Amino acid sequence: MEMKPMMLFKDGKRKALTLSYDDGTIHDRRFVKILNAYGIKCTFNLNSGIFGVEEKKMSNGVFTDFTRIEEREVKELYSGHEVASHTLTHPSLTEISTGMGTSEVLKDRENLERIVGEKVTGFAYPYGTFNEIVEDMLANCGIVYARTVRSTEKFEFPQDYLEWDPTCHHESPRFLEITEEFLKDESYEAKLFYLWGHSYEFAQKDSWQMIEDFCKKMKEQEEEIWFATNMEVMEYEKAFRELMVSSDGKVIHNPAETDLWYKLGNKVCCIAAGQRQQL
Ligand SMILES: [Zn+2]
Repeated sequence: MEMKPMMLFKDGKRKALTLSYDDGTIHDRRFVKILNAYGIKCTFNLNSGIFGVEEKKMSNGVFTDFTRIEEREVKELYSGHEVASHTLTHPSLTEISTGMGTSEVLKDRENLERIVGEKVTGFAYPYGTFNEIVEDMLANCGIVYARTVRSTEKFEFPQDYLEWDPTCHHESPRFLEITEEFLKDESYEAKLFYLWGHSYEFAQKDSWQMIEDFCKKMKEQEEEIWFATNMEVMEYEKAFRELMVSSDGKVIHNPAETDLWYKLGNKVCCIAAGQRQQL
């Protein structure tokens, strides 16, 4: 019987966890400390045109501080995580012209790349709004993935990375249940838990302990779970899809620049970047 190599993540782990948090408010400072304490990786979607802007207002019946972090703290604060674009000033991209949208994305990328000194090609849709025209515009601006706000409550990979639906928001009524499902999952295939939200929600609902408990639970299963940024997950999964298997199923070739792990039956194997292997 012919067996297909089944994807595993870095170090042969079967599960991956990635986080995506928007807007870059001052609450990211406390959030990053928690993430760093447990080694959890997050992608932070920032609006570089409104760094340092102060805003405090009533929201959901609670007086909330939405003040944005300062530009000068970006590089150090998010070090070890991914910085991605969320447009320059947070407009709904379906309500502005393609020309304005292009400028919102390109200027944001340019600013963020200058600040962090790395390429910024990830994206999250402000207000979660998009359509085909917006997707084409993003692709033309060099954006390679874009997160929506549609929860799947599943642990699958997207069909289209410009419509990357997360598993759930941390305020989902099923959040704890979904977390348990992920931790208890014993299926054969690789699974991805993609959590999203805003750190000001932890301040608003005083749910800091809840997110810390989540990180702690994930950390306890560290031997099984790869903690990665959105970009790391996407690059790994795309590289795996490029793995080439000979027609007789006996030789595989990894043309990617990254080592890949896979499972054949119950055997866990690794194929180094650029290598060929007998199955
Ligand atoms: Zn936002």
